[in-house]
Amino acid sequence: MYHLVEIFESLQGEGRNTGRPVVFVRFAGCNLACPWCDTDVRQRFELTLEDLVREVGGFRAKSVILTGGEPTLVKEMPALVAALKAAGYWIGVETNGTNAPAWLGDVDYVACSPKAEYADRVVLTRADEVRVVASSGETVDFCRAMRERIAATDYYVSPCERNGEIDFATAKDALGRLDGWSLSVQLHKVLGFR
Ligand code: SF4
Repeated sequence: MYHLVEIFESLQGEGRNTGRPVVFVRFAGCNLACPWCDTDVRQRFELTLEDLVREVGGFRAKSVILTGGEPTLVKEMPALVAALKAAGYWIGVETNGTNAPAWLGDVDYVACSPKAEYADRVVLTRADEVRVVASSGETVDFCRAMRERIAATDYYVSPCERNGEIDFATAKDALGRLDGWSLSVQLHKVLGFR
């Protein structure tokens, strides 16, 4: 049984796949408690594997992003990944990097968003992209540490949102002091889509 918050179709709003039509499958539960977390990860419903694949198939997009919460904590994920692959889906995963199950090697794209508050708990060593939220003046040191720890193709800094305000200045300052990092705007927040 899969414990879920929501399933919806939209465009990926951040990182290299920005603009890609995807079905977001948001799993309940997270092993961290970031102070600025704005994601409600309380379980809303449960689905069997068959029903979950059927729900995803009801949308038009042929790409799926498994997100949370923290999707790498889902014990039944290998069966879902296998079923979605068999159905021809491109699969992306969004993870905080504190858990590195073997099935991550079976998906098409891994986006890691490590959290500065939990730097010591990051165990992921490889991803397609790393995205760091510029939440404080220490973002630059954290980005450098994560770049040494996680091998990836792309590294992004995202502006932090606090009380509905997007803090672009801290992200810009961090990018000016980093090499090889780009800005990832959370397009869904700027354009107001979900
Ligand atoms: S890792 Fe993500 S979902 Fe979990 S508490 Fe932090 S911001 Fe929220």
